[in-house]
Amino acid sequence: GAAMAVPDKQVASVCPYCGVGCQLTYNVRDNKILYVEGRDGPANHGRLCVKGRYGFDYAHHPQRLTRPLVRREGVAKSATAPMDPARVLEVFREASWEEALALAGGGLARIRDAHGPKSLAGFGSAKGSNEEAYLFQKLVRTGFGSNNVDHCTRLCHASSVAALLEGIGSGAVSNPVMDVLQAEVVIVIGANPTVNHPVAATWIKNAVKGGTKLVVCDPRRSELSRHAHRTLQFKADTDVALLNAMMHVIVAEGLADRDFIASRTSGYEALAENVAAYSPEAMAPLCGIDADTIREVARLYATSKASMILWGMGISQHVHGTDNARCLIALALLTGQIGRPGTGLHPLRGQNNVQGASDAGLIPMMFPDYQRVTEPGVRERFAQAWNVPVAALDDRPGLTVVEVMEAILAGGVKGMYIMGENPAMSDPDANHAREALAALDLLVVQDIFLTETAYLADVILPAGAFPEKTGTFTNTDRLVQLGRQAIDPPGEARQDLWIVQQIARRMGLDWDYGHVSEVFDEMRRLMPSMAGITWARLEREGAVVHPCPEEGHPGTPVVFTDDFPSEDGLARFVPADIIPADERPDADYPMVLITGRQLEHWHTGSMTRRATVLDAIEPDPVALVHPLDLAALGVAPGGVITLASRRGEVALYARADDSSPPGAVFVPFCYYEAAINKLTNAALDPFGKIPEFKYCAIRITPGGAV
Ligand code: SF4
Repeated sequence: GAAMAVPDKQVASVCPYCGVGCQLTYNVRDNKILYVEGRDGPANHGRLCVKGRYGFDYAHHPQRLTRPLVRREGVAKSATAPMDPARVLEVFREASWEEALALAGGGLARIRDAHGPKSLAGFGSAKGSNEEAYLFQKLVRTGFGSNNVDHCTRLCHASSVAALLEGIGSGAVSNPVMDVLQAEVVIVIGANPTVNHPVAATWIKNAVKGGTKLVVCDPRRSELSRHAHRTLQFKADTDVALLNAMMHVIVAEGLADRDFIASRTSGYEALAENVAAYSPEAMAPLCGIDADTIREVARLYATSKASMILWGMGISQHVHGTDNARCLIALALLTGQIGRPGTGLHPLRGQNNVQGASDAGLIPMMFPDYQRVTEPGVRERFAQAWNVPVAALDDRPGLTVVEVMEAILAGGVKGMYIMGENPAMSDPDANHAREALAALDLLVVQDIFLTETAYLADVILPAGAFPEKTGTFTNTDRLVQLGRQAIDPPGEARQDLWIVQQIARRMGLDWDYGHVSEVFDEMRRLMPSMAGITWARLEREGAVVHPCPEEGHPGTPVVFTDDFPSEDGLARFVPADIIPADERPDADYPMVLITGRQLEHWHTGSMTRRATVLDAIEPDPVALVHPLDLAALGVAPGGVITLASRRGEVALYARADDSSPPGAVFVPFCYYEAAINKLTNAALDPFGKIPEFKYCAIRITPGGAV
């Protein structure tokens, strides 16, 4: 066969996909990535999944945006016209950077000046670096003049973070994934790590081999349950019933950790009173798990020397997502299973940098490091550091992702800047979101491909892909890791940090950062959690775990060992009661839709569907339907079906899959040709403002056009 090309350069970096944060090496020749290998990073020790190993050639895809684009005069924005990358030049014309930046930055400034700061909003990205996230939120706060800045954390763990901040004063994980190796009992609930955090799943399996008892709780039976001591396939939407029943057992049987409760927590009495009504016998018919199993798992978790809980979107993406997370927190507090190695709470973060983007302040209610915009002292500190009058900083929380869409349609928000996110695909009730985006006076989109969102833009700015820039990324374990530039951006595409600064200048800000490390240094000064991490140390060590309060500090993999970062140092029990899903099945829409991801594809698919190997493995939009449901429809596996909800319909190929119970259909949201979020419900959790992606009512009919 042909000789394999020999790399002329090897660049140590990290994987651009999930929150596990595997370290990898880009093998490059002539500005082209030839192949990728795993490196010995703290989270992966050489391991990579199929996305990390094969999902790199999207960066070289011919559809990369290489010149700024401006919407042609007279070409209307259509929320319904299918996006067609081949016809891009019929909708847009190429422009110079000078012209595009003037239209983008100048246009945003004009809207701000005519309609006030709250007429603008910005979405940053959990795929960008910490430095990009930081500069983006600084641009919105000091250039736009409001806190209307958010990103896709709102769609994944916002409810978990709301519950964690309320309960223990910090939204981050208490222990790294790798701690499962030291745990006696591990509960994985509402998560499918084999698919979504694949290398983390391998550590969980290693733990099981070493004797750890794994309990998998999920309405869908996942691959991990093959390794589980117990699998609780509870009925969708009954998390609170199940978890309260477990706590009922722990309280009733005297398994609560009295010392821990007395010295480290507040609010126990109210919790104990609340769970008294949730006996396993009463909850068993509701959640579909027999009372003995609930008792057994509760005892197992409570009495082990070290128990750890890992969870994902199955917990968070409900109108009761915050309540679900409150129950998990209460379980850990009730039993003292937090604050030691091998214990604790680990909300598995989805995007490679969703932890970092949130840390860096890409959220509407907090400045960097979760410092609240409503606190005068905080605003004073940031105003001084950013060299703006304190009155210039908005003292009210801004709009969240889904709220921005509502505000556009209500006429409040007129201009948007979206960096590296694709709300036209990722937002719930996507037709509605697309109508909102199309209704903007000015939409500026910065991305590497013509996404469904970019298709609705007025100005498109061609950005750098992950391997084309250097920056820091914070994984699910709070590890701050260095991603290093391996190749140059194609054509006239530019690194995002440069583009954000150009927009800032055209909005009247006088920014002049040189190297990315200058942005990092500014962040360190404002973020106590990162204060001790120097750029030189990152270059030397590649990864440092925060909180790292001063230089020379080793970093803190396990937190809450002595106290919690709340005002009184205590953690708080917050009781939760059952709230049903917003939209239950009925005669017209008798089935339940659950959305999520596939192993080979990442989120809205803009990268992985352009990665040759990954798209070859999973090339077509699929719905995973129970074989009994398929038989009842008279559809053979592989046949086409149409799914419809009250909000829209899409056609896909049916795959027979019995991991969901009959009546429930699972669909990945990565397929633009069958954008499943046209069907999902935009109803929000009242605390985290997260939409209910894991539950809405649909019906299936045979046939349709894919
Ligand atoms: Fe990348 Fe996550 Fe796979 Fe690791 S587990 S290679 S970080 S996608």
